[in-house]
Amino acid sequence: MTVSKPQRANASRERKPSLDTLAVWAGEEESVPGGATQVPVVHSVAFGYADVDQWQQVALGRAPGHIYSRNTNPTVEAFERKVMALEGAPAATSFATGMAAISNTMFALLAPGDHVVSIKDSYGGTNKVFTEFLPRVNVRVSLCDTEDYGAIEAAVASGCAMLYLESPTNPTLKVTDIARLSAAAHRAGALVVVDNTFATPINQNPLALGADIVVHSATKFLGGHADALGGVICGPTELVQRVYHYREITGATLHPSAAYLLLRGLKTLHLRIRQQNASAQRIAVHLSRHPKVSAVFYPGLPGHRHHDVAARQMRGFGGVLSFMLEGGFDQVRSVLPKLRLAHRAANLGSVETVVGPPSTTSHVENTAAERAALGIPEGLVRYSVGIEDTGDLIADLDQALA
Ligand SMILES: *Cc1c(COP(=O)(O)O)cnc(C)c1O
Repeated sequence: MTVSKPQRANASRERKPSLDTLAVWAGEEESVPGGATQVPVVHSVAFGYADVDQWQQVALGRAPGHIYSRNTNPTVEAFERKVMALEGAPAATSFATGMAAISNTMFALLAPGDHVVSIKDSYGGTNKVFTEFLPRVNVRVSLCDTEDYGAIEAAVASGCAMLYLESPTNPTLKVTDIARLSAAAHRAGALVVVDNTFATPINQNPLALGADIVVHSATKFLGGHADALGGVICGPTELVQRVYHYREITGATLHPSAAYLLLRGLKTLHLRIRQQNASAQRIAVHLSRHPKVSAVFYPGLPGHRHHDVAARQMRGFGGVLSFMLEGGFDQVRSVLPKLRLAHRAANLGSVETVVGPPSTTSHVENTAAERAALGIPEGLVRYSVGIEDTGDLIADLDQALA
């Protein structure tokens, strides 16, 4: 776990670096042996101390340092510091995967008898935690229609320990009003957790909108190169400490090699997201005029049902869109293989464009009947825009749809 350092006395008068600068520099302040300019991958399992008293002080958390890499590790800490700076949070802790971040947060902060409220459109794995694992430990779960604020607010007001949101959602890009629902949850004394994977801290900071904890699958945009799994949460020190303690014991630790790749990916996050925002917008507009496409879901489109909320709480609309093909799943089966500039894979947020239907990606864990109940049509295609030339991507889509 990583906690922000005390501010210097004159820090408030200094120029505050922008997210672009933080993406490049934040988290890497620790001096490195030999003057290396890059954070090294520290593979060491344990950290040695000649002085037993000092060892004990570190072990008790009274002095800075590392003891054992299941708990903390210098490379992992640098990754946590960078995300923490980008989310403007006092503390962060990381995990082996995004699902480890999500499930550890829930199991650390919820107890038998608690009530958790969420939306029907959460990520498929998250939905499984709600429907399969939390009920087993006697946590009551209410999954509300994502667009029904009345239902969410009533469920929260009935007594609730946690409101769990995801915005924009996967794969239909619904956007929920984080400030409004956080206020409702806080009136009921509930904690608010927001999955910010789709937006990234470049486009949206849930903590600034009122959330208590922000979670990420770092596997996606944060890493950005589809070569490392990871998860991270940010929030106030006391809450992050409770989740960190659960994770240090249950052991879903981020590996230092993965932390290094994620840290390197983060240095270009702002550049990638800027390109992906702009490309996704142009592609969404193009597809919305295409005769073979019956619907496009992208919060940047003025016709999107939640465009106003998105414009209020986001600085950019993200790199993922989805669209529906006339002809349903048969069309999906015929169009996807024709794309030349897209991996057909269960991933998103990488520098390459990635495409897939929900039945093999976000909602692979669900049956066709469950997907139908969640309002996810089988003719839907999720398209995660890479950093290729936008015109090339549009031409590729056109030839595949022709
Ligand atoms: C992928 C994803 C997750 C899970 O992350 P993993 O790193 O695959 O465990 C959670 N939430 C969202 C929105 C995702 O896209």
